[in-house]
Amino acid sequence: MDTITKEQRSRVMSRIRSRDTKPELAVRRRLHAAGWRFRVCDKRLPGHPDVVVPRARTLIEVRGCFWHRHGCAKSSMPKSNVAFWMAKWSRNVRRDKRHEAEWRKLGWNVIVVWECALDAVRREDTLVRICQALDFWKGEGPRKRPHRLTLPRLSPRR
Ligand SMILES: [Zn+2]
Repeated sequence: MDTITKEQRSRVMSRIRSRDTKPELAVRRRLHAAGWRFRVCDKRLPGHPDVVVPRARTLIEVRGCFWHRHGCAKSSMPKSNVAFWMAKWSRNVRRDKRHEAEWRKLGWNVIVVWECALDAVRREDTLVRICQALDFWKGEGPRKRPHRLTLPRLSPRR
């Protein structure tokens, strides 16, 4: 059963929607340098997306691999309290899916950037791809089927 202590739980919860994480800041810095205007943690949209770029009608979500279960090497399994973690994660993943569906329904393009796509090796390539996508999409009108881009493009081996 669930054996996590109250203190452990609150420590965990406080880290989940941590604002201004390092990977997210890397994305924001690059957008700023490229001259894009954006809103951060937009309360007007469901789920308060991390970064909103209105001119390209695009939302950018930076997802922690561990919390949102990317399946890469960064999403290792903890040794204890497995039941608690599994429940927590399935809620996270369900919520991510729901928000994404809502955003697309509202006509927003969505870029999902996994944290591991912003590691030292892949960061530059990832940031270039994000800016390229925004450049392509900014000239388009609203789309019935908005664009979706996930970075890194290849899903991790499980
Ligand atoms: Zn990952």
